[in-house]
Formats: sequence, C-alpha cells, structure tokens
Amino acid sequence: MVLQEKREIIQRDSYMNEITKNQKVIILRDGTEIWIEKDRAENFGDQLMKITESKFVKIDDQIINTADITGIFSPETLEEKVRRKRGQWYCTSCKKWHDRGERCEEVRIPSHIAKFLE
Ligand SMILES: [Zn+2]
Repeated sequence: MVLQEKREIIQRDSYMNEITKNQKVIILRDGTEIWIEKDRAENFGDQLMKITESKFVKIDDQIINTADITGIFSPETLEEKVRRKRGQWYCTSCKKWHDRGERCEEVRIPSHIAKFLE
C-alpha cells in the first residue's frame, strides 16, 4: 500500500471515531441500527422511559414502533458485540482484543491450567 493511501485510511478512521463518539445507536429487534447524535438519543431515551404504552415515533425520516426497540447503546457496546461475534476476546492483561484462538504474549498461564486450554 502506498503511503498516501495508508495516510488516508488513518485519517478516515480517526474521522469515523470522531463521528461515532458523538453518536448513539438505537437497535431494533430485527437488528436494525439507527445512529443518531448522542444528545438526541439521550432525549429520546428519556421520552421512551416515560411512555407506558408502545407507539409509533418518527426518527429523522423513519417511523418506528417503540415496541420494536431493544435499546439505545453506545458505539463501544456495539463494537464489543461485533468483536465477540467474530470470536475475538478482550484481554485484561494487555487491554487489547485478541483474535479467536490467539494467545496473549503477556499472559503466563501456569502449566497445570494450560493443559486444559489445549
Ligand atoms: Zn493480551
């Protein structure tokens, strides 16, 4: 990969991080994700907790039934879910994600435990 391309990807990633940091995700029962600004999501969440019956609400140009809402989540929670689905696991030793089957270099597993992990 050319350096220029690499640089563009890094820029795009940090740009995406900037965007997603200020957003929250409404997740519906069928897995649909609706991304909206954090402030609006929090307002919406407050309204949602007050209503006692399900009803149709408009979010941007979409109309959804509140009964279909699973919850409102942060991008971090979502990322974690996606990673776990991919088989990745979060390592408390090095504070990084590892791929399925990957062992952490920093962890020294006692041999009497290690044999059960083979
Ligand atoms: Zn690790």
